[in-house]
Amino acid sequence: MSRVVVLGGAESGVGAAVLAKVKGFDVFLSDKGQIKEQYAKTLREWDIPFEEGRHTEDLILNADEVVKSPGIPGTVPMVQKIREKGIRVVSEIEFASRYDSAKKICITGSNGKTTTTSLIYYLLQNAGLNVGLGGNIGKSYAYQVATEHFDYYVLEISSFQLDDIYDFRPDIAIITNITPDHLDRYDHKMENYVAAKFNITRNLTQDDCFIFDSDDEITVGHLSKIVLRCKMLPFSQEKEVKEGAFIRENKMVLRYDKKETDLFLEELALGGKHNIYNSMAAALAAKVTSIEDEVIRKSLSSFQPIEHRLEPVLSIKDVLYINDSKATNVDSAWYALECQKRPVVWIVGGTDKGNDYSVLNELVKQKVKGIVCLGKDNAKIHAAFSPIVQNITDALSAKEAVEKASKMAEAGDVVLLSPCCASFDLFKNYEDRGEQFKAAVRNL
Ligand code: ADP
Repeated sequence: MSRVVVLGGAESGVGAAVLAKVKGFDVFLSDKGQIKEQYAKTLREWDIPFEEGRHTEDLILNADEVVKSPGIPGTVPMVQKIREKGIRVVSEIEFASRYDSAKKICITGSNGKTTTTSLIYYLLQNAGLNVGLGGNIGKSYAYQVATEHFDYYVLEISSFQLDDIYDFRPDIAIITNITPDHLDRYDHKMENYVAAKFNITRNLTQDDCFIFDSDDEITVGHLSKIVLRCKMLPFSQEKEVKEGAFIRENKMVLRYDKKETDLFLEELALGGKHNIYNSMAAALAAKVTSIEDEVIRKSLSSFQPIEHRLEPVLSIKDVLYINDSKATNVDSAWYALECQKRPVVWIVGGTDKGNDYSVLNELVKQKVKGIVCLGKDNAKIHAAFSPIVQNITDALSAKEAVEKASKMAEAGDVVLLSPCCASFDLFKNYEDRGEQFKAAVRNL
């Protein structure tokens, strides 16, 4: 019996281990850290041997194949030893896709993955298709392949999950956009990060489609250096495209298979320029899946905002509080500010990822009347914006930030949490930051 060793005991690793077990492999899972109880319980239920707090070489280096969880960098010593022994290392999605014949719509990119993935899932569900949602959202792809049967999968895929793929082939691949993020995992080289995202296209054939943002210079630049045989479907808000999606007057136009469909931009449920891009990408995926125009229109106009992404929380004394805690980089905060029509009191800060704030200067000048820095070290934010915004203060908790922001705001304003930064200095994660923000708003 061949032996599969899984490294990492969280969502994707445990999913891969369960699938390996179902497929009759001799499975072992190893995690150098502690495994959360919920995952340990699943492993016990499936009778899968595992270890935590260490990697025992004798139990790992006898593998025929290793499935590495995306959270483990390829540079850790154990992974290097495995490779030196000539054992193949694959990612969870590579492993799972061998046992899955469903059509796959796979979404990667720097920003907008979750929104676009959720939109597409909603579209396919509304069209009555038997569809699963997975990858970085909800249950892992491998776990679902082991336990469910779907005709379609909509999978959100991070660049880490694309690191060790060989034959993984989506039917529709989408790159929402590419802006600098997580460069620490790519030797601080943008080209490595771009290449990792483009891994999603490596096995596309002429029967498949690639949907991409043709206003995004990094994406287009990389496309000029590679050859793809699949159908290309660009989306753009700047120019008309031969086939794909674009803007004509106040409408989004979908041009596919020699036909055009359009819908009014004001009918889109999700506001903001960035969500026009996301809606275009989702609508194109729906067209390729032969979903009727009427279903596309209704779905794009009835979709509800996702938690922590420009999520309206409450309006208090005509001040609207918006939770955009998921905006963990400069680009996402740019779009959050861009779509505000009212004066903004902006809550920003956290763990800085080497941000260049200067791209926000124009928008901040136009829209921001006050800033509350929510982070342990706010020096960079002060340096960037104190020449532009007079009213800047600091806070060390969501509660303090909301209270200070509410004092700065007047009727007609918006208080926007769109931090530009990771959350780990003061919070468990971005969800925790968003929850604490919402609780503080409700307590005002
Ligand atoms: P991801 O899953 O890639 O992190 P999300 O859909 O969760 O993307 O959105 C993350 C943040 O980026 C949110 O603040 C959201 O408002 C913003 N955002 C969403 N779509 C885009 C886009 N196409 N371009 C830039 N920012 C975006």
